[in-house]
Amino acid sequence: MTVRVGVIGTGRIGSDHIRRLTGTIPGAEVVAVSDVDTERAELVAGEIGATAIPGGTDLIADDRVDAVVVTSIGPTHAEYVLAAIDSGKYVFCEKPLATTAQDCLRIVRAEREFGSRLVQVGFMRRYDAGYRAMKRVIDAGEIGTPLIMHCVHRNASVPDSYHSAMAVQDTAVHELDTIRWLLGTEIARTQVHVPRSTANRFPHLRDPQLMRFETEDGVHIDLEVFVNCQYGYDIQCETVGELGTVRLPDPPDVAVRKAGQLRTGVLQDWTTRFVDAFDRELREWIESVHAGRLCGPSAWDGYAVAVSSDATVRALESGEIVEVRLTEKPELYQG
Ligand code: NAP
Repeated sequence: MTVRVGVIGTGRIGSDHIRRLTGTIPGAEVVAVSDVDTERAELVAGEIGATAIPGGTDLIADDRVDAVVVTSIGPTHAEYVLAAIDSGKYVFCEKPLATTAQDCLRIVRAEREFGSRLVQVGFMRRYDAGYRAMKRVIDAGEIGTPLIMHCVHRNASVPDSYHSAMAVQDTAVHELDTIRWLLGTEIARTQVHVPRSTANRFPHLRDPQLMRFETEDGVHIDLEVFVNCQYGYDIQCETVGELGTVRLPDPPDVAVRKAGQLRTGVLQDWTTRFVDAFDRELREWIESVHAGRLCGPSAWDGYAVAVSSDATVRALESGEIVEVRLTEKPELYQG
């Protein structure tokens, strides 16, 4: 059986996911697309023999669509995810699940009322081979109880529409999810230190930022977010345990020895760094839709990250340590 997918949002990542679902991933067919830019939607639909449907909620309700991919801009996500739950259809939603923790909670409650999982959130780092290897080492107890984690998230540059709160809302959200997933616990406290800013910044932007998180069971995490580092896209993570450490590998590249130097390249953006993770993420989502049982990042994960993200923005503004307070985790998301 083929899962007939409808995609809402045919921009950068929407087009990328459509390409994946059409050319790379077996068992799926993109049958409908939608975008406020109807011309773009029609163009994309024409390229793959799909139907362009003007409204996202009409696409969700359409009988030809079995499952929905939401890749429109963040503020539209909650409406579309809630409509998909209402129709009883599986929905893969790019991060963020919603732009407010309140809307994430509405989604959690709607899904709980439906009675089984329909929602998966696009936290694709869980599908990266390096992160998965690190999780296997931690889960096997090889480094003993985790005590500390050091993380780095650097981008070569960002557009001037990027503002200081986006260091967490747009950038650190990926770490907020991977920390919880790798350590199997929730973030309890958050704090942000702001050192001298780079001269390669816009006047409104505080960059870099040093974030500090503490989990419910006392692991301390430091995260450097530096989005105008100039030299490339650089993701690092090391977990320190009682018996040893485990570190994310650098992306593979040849080592060139020449003229008295040894050099390797640094990737320039997330599209190349996580291309395999995106492929695996959508492949496993389609497989789980076929199986009728989702196992990827849940609406609860989207909610927990949103609460930590909001708390970190407040920590940035206040300079204080801010507590992260989640509601009780519903049975649906236990285990
Ligand atoms: P984008 O290029 O701006 O694409 C978004 C598309 O949605 C645009 O075509 C936009 O049209 C359209 N749109 C706006 N409002 C809509 C509505 N009400 N209904 C349907 N379509 C609507 O953005 P993007 O970079 O692809 O990002 C999309 C989402 O993916 C964001 O939430 C982003 O955070 C997420 N994302 C995740 C990752 C990741 O690492 N997992 C990476 C990149 C992006 P207009 O251009 O006309 O507004």
